[in-house]
Amino acid sequence: MIKIRSGSLYSWLSNKRIYTFVIVIVLIMLPPITGIQVSAEVLASNFFSDTYHEARTKFLTAAKAAGGNLEYYRHPLLGADSEELYIDVATFNLPGARSVLVLGSGTHGVEGFAGSAIQVGLLAEGIAKNLPSDVGLLFYHALNPYGFSHLRRFNEDNIDLNRNFIDHDKPYPANEGYDELAWLIEPDSLSSWQDIKAKLVFAWYRLTKGKLWLQKAISQGQYNHPEGLFFGGNKEAWSNNTLQKVVERHLIAASKVVLIDVHTGLGEYAAAEVITEVRPGTPAHERILKWWGNRVKVPSAGESVSPPVMGSLKSGFTRLLPHADVTVVALEFGTFPPPEALWALRAENYVHHHGGDEQMDKQAIKYELKRVFYPDKQEWKQAVWQQGRGIVLQALEDMY
Ligand SMILES: [Zn+2]
Repeated sequence: MIKIRSGSLYSWLSNKRIYTFVIVIVLIMLPPITGIQVSAEVLASNFFSDTYHEARTKFLTAAKAAGGNLEYYRHPLLGADSEELYIDVATFNLPGARSVLVLGSGTHGVEGFAGSAIQVGLLAEGIAKNLPSDVGLLFYHALNPYGFSHLRRFNEDNIDLNRNFIDHDKPYPANEGYDELAWLIEPDSLSSWQDIKAKLVFAWYRLTKGKLWLQKAISQGQYNHPEGLFFGGNKEAWSNNTLQKVVERHLIAASKVVLIDVHTGLGEYAAAEVITEVRPGTPAHERILKWWGNRVKVPSAGESVSPPVMGSLKSGFTRLLPHADVTVVALEFGTFPPPEALWALRAENYVHHHGGDEQMDKQAIKYELKRVFYPDKQEWKQAVWQQGRGIVLQALEDMY
C-alpha cells in the first residue's frame, strides 16, 4: 500500500508512480464499475502499456480489483530502469477448481505487451466474476520479466524460454543447420558487409535447401551457441523453475487444464494463429478445432507460421501434469515479415553481448526490436485485443 510519512508530502506528490497508479485505476476500472460508456477503441488501448513496469502495474491493479489472489515471484536481477522484476500470478477459485484456464504472457520478454493487455482487459471486463466453483483461472504475467523490461526476446542467460523445457540431463539434440550458419546469425560485427554476406548466404540456402530447412536451422532451437539466437540453455532457466513451482502449487489437483501462452512476431500483420503440438486426428486436436476452427495450426504438419521447436513450453507444461487432461497452445499474433524480426533480433543480440558504440545506438536497436514485436498502431492493438479476448472466452465457455 502507499504510505505517507509526515513531512514527506512533497516527495509523495512528486512521485510519478502515484500518478501512474491513479490513472491506471481510473482508466481501467472505472468503466466496468460505473457502467460509463467509453468507446471500445479507447478502452482497449488503455489495456496496453509502454514499459514492463506500466504493464505490471496495470496487471496487479486489475487482478486486485477483480478479487484475485496474488503471488509475486521476485527475479534475482533488476530491470532496465533499475526496477524490481517479478513473475506475478493471479488466481481465482484456486486451489480447488477441477477445471482451470491458464493465460500466460511474456514468455518471450518483449512479446509480453500483447499478452499483458489481453490479461488486463479480460480482468477489467469481469472474466473472474461468477465463476462456477469448479472452474478456476490462473494468469501468469511476464514469465520472462528480464526480457520484458530490457526489451529482449531472450532472458538474463540469453536463453529462449520456449526452447528450455527439455531434459537437461540428457544429451541435447543437434541443430547442424544452425552450426553451419552461426557465424552469420551471431556475427563479430554489425557492419553493412556482414549484413550483405548474411543475406546472400541465407538466400542461397533458401534456394538450394528450401524455406523450411532455413527456418528450422535458424529458429527451431540450438544448444551449442550460448551467445546465439534461440539458445535453449544448458540448465533450467529461473522462469522455467518458477513456472514449475506455480504449477505444483495450484494445478496439481486439477483434472482439466487449458493453457494459452500469448506471443507476437510471427504471421500476417494483426492475424491470430493458435499453435498446437497435438497431432491432427486425435480427440485433443478435434476439441481444439471445435473451439478455434481454422485458426488452429500444427507446426509438425507444416501448417503453422512457426517451425516445430525443441524444448517448447507446450511440451514441458504438458509433462508437468501427467494425470490431467491438458491442452496447451501458443496464441501468436503477426506483426511484420519474418526477415524483419530476424534482423532486429540479430542486431539486439549483438548489442546485448558487445554493447553499442558511436555508430550503433544500443537504445535505438532495442526500440527497433520492440517495434517489430509490438507495433505501436491502434488498429494492431485493437485486433489483438478483440481476437485474444474471443479466443480465451471460447475456451472458457467449454469449461463451464
Ligand atoms: Zn514468442
